[in-house]
Formats: sequence, C-alpha cells, structure tokens
Amino acid sequence: MLRSRNSLLLVVICTCVFLLFIPKQSVAQIKTSSDTVKILPKARWGGVTGRPYKQHVPVKITVHHEGGKLLTKNDDAFKRLKNIQTWGMGPDRKWADVPYHLLIAPDGTVLEGRNPLTVGETNTEYDPTGHLLICFLGNYNQQKLDDHLLDVLVRLLADQCIKYNISPNEISTHRDHSTQTTCPGDDIYSYFKNGYIVKKVNKLVKKRISQ
Ligand SMILES: [Zn+2]
Repeated sequence: MLRSRNSLLLVVICTCVFLLFIPKQSVAQIKTSSDTVKILPKARWGGVTGRPYKQHVPVKITVHHEGGKLLTKNDDAFKRLKNIQTWGMGPDRKWADVPYHLLIAPDGTVLEGRNPLTVGETNTEYDPTGHLLICFLGNYNQQKLDDHLLDVLVRLLADQCIKYNISPNEISTHRDHSTQTTCPGDDIYSYFKNGYIVKKVNKLVKKRISQ
C-alpha cells in the first residue's frame, strides 16, 4: 500500500515537472518564428560592426527618441543613423556602437542597432543593463506618432517580449528611469502615461502565445 502510494506520488510529481517544462519549450519555439516586424540589417543603412562590449540579457524594454533634430518621412533616416553611429563611436563618446538596440524611422522602417545581448548606452544617470533600448529617430517633443508608427511599435514590442520572455508590464520609457530627460518626447510618452501601449502589447502577446 505504502509502495503504491509512493509510486502514485512519483507519477504525480513527474507529471507536474513535465507540465512545467513542456510549456516553456513551446514558448521557446514560438520565439524564434514569431517576429512580425522586419528588422533591416545594419549593412542596409551603412552601419559598421560594433566593438565588443558588456553582455547582458534583456529583462525589460525602454522606449526612447533620438531627441535631436526633427526627422520627417522625406529625410534620410539611414544617413541620420549612420551619423549617430559615427559620432557615438568617435572621440566624443567612444561607445562600442549605436547606443540603442533597435531604431524606428519616421516611415515605420525598423533598423538594426547594437547587438541586443550587449548593454546599451546613455547620457543620463540610469544603468541600462538589462534594458532592451528601442529608439525613434527624430524628436517627439516636436513630431507625432501616426497610426502606422503606433502599430509598428506595438508589434515590435510584442515581438521582443516573446523573443526574450519579457512581461509587457516591464515596458517603460527613458523618463521613467531618469529625471534628467524628457525622452521619449511628450507625444510618445502620452501613450505610456495613459497605458495604451502596455495594454495593447499585453493583449497581443497573450493572443500570440495562445495560438
Ligand atoms: Zn532616451
């Protein structure tokens, strides 16, 4: 009787361990194949390979804007990013690469930046270790997101949440971590302040993981 009870207990434990393990495997499989937003490789915008830098695994996502000059759909976003890289890697900053991991042009094109498995850079007081940095090119204190850019942002955030197993509740903006900046600009920040972005990403991630 005792032996059979122990056997039963063993079966129950094994089943629980199995059930705990299997869903994680399934999520991992979804991660590699579920990206919905195409990321344009560095070579396409003329970027050079970054230098080796501190490694990390992203556990949260922070949204930024470049915060410099206004950038419209008619301006050359590739050139703007190339200039950011050249300046950042030069004597002014001596950074390993572009400071951000992913960048969004005004027409919604997403551009590859620094290797997401290396820590990003900042000019402010917060520590970007563990943050995946997504940055809109341009200045969103002066320009506004349109419906297409909002859609790209929500889908890109959902892609990255699934890829790195990050909860959408861990998405925030630069100014949430630093008192020294208005980044990502008043327009982008308004969609975080009212909860719109995090709510949309939560809904999308839940839908995609359950498929
Ligand atoms: Zn920022």
